[in-house]
Amino acid sequence: LGSSLKNSVRKIVKKGRIDKETVNELATDIQRALLKSDVDVELVQELTDKIKDRALNEEPPKGASSREHVIRIVYEEMLEIVGEETEVPMEEQDIMLVGLQGSGKTTTAAKLANYFQKKGLKPGLICGDTFRPGAYNQLKELSQRIDSVFYGEKESEDAIQVVKNGLNELKDSKVRIVDTAGRHSLESDLIDEMEQINEVVEPDKKFLVIDASIGKGVKDQANSFNEAIGIDGVIITKLDGTAKGGGALTAVSEAETNIAFLGTGEKLNELEEFEPDSFISRLLGMGDIEKLAQRAEERLSEEEMDMESMMKGDITLKDVYNQLESINKLGPLNQIMSMIPGGFNLPDDALDVTKEKMQIYKIIMDSMTEEEMKNPQKINSSRVERIAKGSGTTRESVNELLKYHKMMKKVMKQMKGGRTPMKKMMKKF
Ligand code: GDP
Ligand code: MG
Repeated sequence: LGSSLKNSVRKIVKKGRIDKETVNELATDIQRALLKSDVDVELVQELTDKIKDRALNEEPPKGASSREHVIRIVYEEMLEIVGEETEVPMEEQDIMLVGLQGSGKTTTAAKLANYFQKKGLKPGLICGDTFRPGAYNQLKELSQRIDSVFYGEKESEDAIQVVKNGLNELKDSKVRIVDTAGRHSLESDLIDEMEQINEVVEPDKKFLVIDASIGKGVKDQANSFNEAIGIDGVIITKLDGTAKGGGALTAVSEAETNIAFLGTGEKLNELEEFEPDSFISRLLGMGDIEKLAQRAEERLSEEEMDMESMMKGDITLKDVYNQLESINKLGPLNQIMSMIPGGFNLPDDALDVTKEKMQIYKIIMDSMTEEEMKNPQKINSSRVERIAKGSGTTRESVNELLKYHKMMKKVMKQMKGGRTPMKKMMKKF
């Protein structure tokens, strides 16, 4: 599907002009991709109607190709549905998690505690689930794992009282996270309980936790939770599975809220702040290749990065220097690589090169002679010493750069062996 969407995008490039037939074809492919990702049928229909209308009636801005224009429209309309990223305030706050049984509330509660702790805000976890046996132990065990304060009452059946006590006990915690009992369906007593906990906590944020694989029924759920307590954001869990999370978009649109976080695994550090771009790519099943192509065309000039000549063989430190500059403009290397279909087997270290490291590498290279830049293999240990001193860095950093250069050389060779030169791929896709 992703590939058929790519094909229809490619057709737009070939035709150079957008006609009704091309747009219809693109719309159909988008529909297929989104339905496969469990996005609600009505949402999909609305979206593609808008895309068709805009693609056919809006003039591309000056200088933009028809393809860029259409891609922009698709992206903007997708963003409309998916929503912008949610600002997570780094301040004292109370958070309440609600959702169906098994959706991942308890796990997410601990993940959030871990998240805020890493940001320097002392978390406190409160077990407001007195319904399910084992809920107490589960949250307690999780909180021990991340060294977070925990409050719960193992024998109590009065969730409202437990939460009240918990809030009193955990006054020192900056971010207090209340886990609640899951609902199988929307039984009225549990909804009552949730409403009462809501009144006791008066949470700053009420997150609805939703399993990525949710399909039918999400509308009713979202509405019930939203009517009962008002939802401030959605957390989609289990995105590490096959489900793309499109079903959760219905909840987002019904509750008129945004996605706040994504759960991407069972481990407690597998929680991501929501970021629309990659989520959109995922829903469309086509990678970020278009975005990359666009950015590449906009910003990658020939002088900055001559991939072809590099791939012919010799890559010097000068090339590495230019390459680092280009990468700085494009984004982190791992992001770039993940956008390329098929992918290359990059060594893990290559992906570790952070912006800060690149900055250091550049400072080091500024202290090298032209000759050293051209023939880095001639840099012996006394030269390493001199370069480190001259650049005010360390021998380790210099050696690391030399290692990086060697690795890039290998990578370039690997690409040369491949069928599609990277540059061509970036431009033509
Ligand atoms: P609750 O009933 O809503 O509190 O759900 P739990 O937090 O107990 O989670 C139910 C199951 O889903 C547990 O086995 C969790 O380990 C698992 N789970 C939760 N979040 C994720 C996630 O992001 N990815 C994966 N793979 N599993 C998850
Ligand atoms: Mg639970």
